[in-house]
Amino acid sequence: MNILFIEDDTIETMKLHRTVSKLQFKHQITEAKNGEEALRILRSGSKLPDIILLDLNMPRMSGLEFLKILKDDESFKYLPTIILTTSENRADLLECYRIGIAGYVIKPLKYEDYEHRLKQVFQYWEINELVKA
Ligand SMILES: [Mg+2]
Repeated sequence: MNILFIEDDTIETMKLHRTVSKLQFKHQITEAKNGEEALRILRSGSKLPDIILLDLNMPRMSGLEFLKILKDDESFKYLPTIILTTSENRADLLECYRIGIAGYVIKPLKYEDYEHRLKQVFQYWEINELVKA
């Protein structure tokens, strides 16, 4: 799968790469540091990602702002977007589901738990039918 990974924290980005290579997944990861950069990538005309992994707390354009724009856009609204966050804030959770997400995963603190969760997310999306752009 082609995965657009939107995250401002470089440690988190390293963690994702480590997990993907450790689990020997062949996924292609494209990184964006905030919502603005992610939109630039999506609008660049290159192949759209299969899924998006989205952090909520980011500078410049937050995950929620990005999600609103994404779901308002005819070309991008079908991209399954999974929130990957440390925020257990119920207001965030409700707002994300209201706008339209494909999942909401809390990042566990322990690396082993993180790896386990991400493995399940990848495996679940691998068996899904995706709207190909
Ligand atoms: Mg963040």
